[in-house]
Amino acid sequence: MPKKRTINRKVCRNCKAILPYNVVKCPYCGSSDFVEEYAGFVIIINSERSQIAREKNLKEGIWAIKLF
Ligand SMILES: [Zn+2]
Repeated sequence: MPKKRTINRKVCRNCKAILPYNVVKCPYCGSSDFVEEYAGFVIIINSERSQIAREKNLKEGIWAIKLF
């Protein structure tokens, strides 16, 4: 898979939520500290039925795996 930069998204440095670029404050943790580069992500659709969500204690949403 080619590495492609996503320019219309950013990631909360505190909780790793992937958010639209125009978000000023993270809706999950309230942080305003964002990074623009990340690698990999998990999408949690139903946090109660998702094993990875339970293991990592994630809420529904899109979460980055690694930040730069
Ligand atoms: Zn956050």
